Amino acid sequence: MIRRMPAAETADAQLQRTAAQFREAFGCPPTHAAAAPGRVNLIGEHTDYNDGFVLPLAIDRRSVVVAVPREDYVVRLRSTGVEGEASFDLTQPVTTGEPAWSNYLRGPIALGGELGLKPTGFDALVDSTVPSGGGLSSSAALEVSMLTLLEALTGQMLDPVQKALTAQKAEHEFANTPCGIMDQFISTMGKEGHALLIDCRDHSTRDVKLDDPEVVVLIINSNVKHELNGGEYAERRQQCEAAAGTLGVKALRDATLDMLESTKGQLDDTAYRRARHVIGENQRTLDCADALDARDYAAVGNLMFASHDSLRDDFEVSTPELDKLVELAKAHHDPEAGVIGSRMTGGGFGGCTVSLVRRDAVDRLADQITADYRQATGVEAEAFVTVPSAGAEILEV
Ligand code: ADP
Ligand code: MG
Repeated sequence: MIRRMPAAETADAQLQRTAAQFREAFGCPPTHAAAAPGRVNLIGEHTDYNDGFVLPLAIDRRSVVVAVPREDYVVRLRSTGVEGEASFDLTQPVTTGEPAWSNYLRGPIALGGELGLKPTGFDALVDSTVPSGGGLSSSAALEVSMLTLLEALTGQMLDPVQKALTAQKAEHEFANTPCGIMDQFISTMGKEGHALLIDCRDHSTRDVKLDDPEVVVLIINSNVKHELNGGEYAERRQQCEAAAGTLGVKALRDATLDMLESTKGQLDDTAYRRARHVIGENQRTLDCADALDARDYAAVGNLMFASHDSLRDDFEVSTPELDKLVELAKAHHDPEAGVIGSRMTGGGFGGCTVSLVRRDAVDRLADQITADYRQATGVEAEAFVTVPSAGAEILEV
């Protein structure tokens, strides 16, 4: 038996289901609702905090939050997926608190309030179909859905860039994760049928069409997460900053491979390889956006495989399981009839791979790859096809 994630639920079906659960939990129907998607990054990994380029798409799995305003200033937060209730009073400063998951919602409420999104109290229930902790940014989906709910409750709209940056700040300050801007930007600004090329320095974006009916985005969750001390991400950031300093540039975004080669003597081997990844990955991301525009799938695939190799060898954030999934996908590499390209996606040390695959072949290949993966690792992977989807929106209840 091959384990397949159930087909994605539509936003409307998810809203109806969550509204019914809200009624059971709080005794009345919700009056306001909002949704925000998770994301998968096609290419451009560990480039966002180097002022570089990323090319993510919003997926058809999302956080839906439904609510009803209260007469007082109390906020009560529950989740369909996790135990516990958070309760606090908006007349006091909103701080981190229990249960831990509520911090992904407390942050946007606190920081949204600073921007003038000040509703009265409300009862809210969140439901997420983004797998938690799988590298598809369930955290950004929660944050952005809450900011969007605040827009619905107050009638006051945020500028999309300000909204994404506020959600990112919430993740920094309330979840203690020093993430870049990618996840919150794509969750806010995703567009159906498109990936989004984001310039992480000036925050400009370019829609990149990803609507060829013959090509699909396949996500495979390796279902293995290597528990680390959490310092690896901060360490990579620090190594990149140090390499930029040695190269005499503000960020690695400003460096070229020629500059790197001529400074090689001043960098230790690790710093050299970290910088080589980021500089190469920025160029691959720009090239991939152009190749997608031209539907040049041979080029797209080579860029994706090269990205994976670089993340494995130079940036050293892959895992044996992610490497195995990419190797198994590569065995079916055929831009005309099989796998176009495949790579690990997200920060690394576990989580998912993303592949572009010919639609006609995807069911057969997903089954084959997950079966071979189980044989090689003893682990069940989960495969699902996703569709480039819209970013956050207010929903009518
Ligand atoms: P990722 O963003 O890759 O999914 P993170 O570790 O950044 O992983 O975020 C996962 C956290 O988000 C969980 O530990 C939990 O606190 C919170 N979370 C995810 N899904 C839900 C949910 N349905 N309800 C409440 N909290 C959730
Ligand atoms: Mg996250």
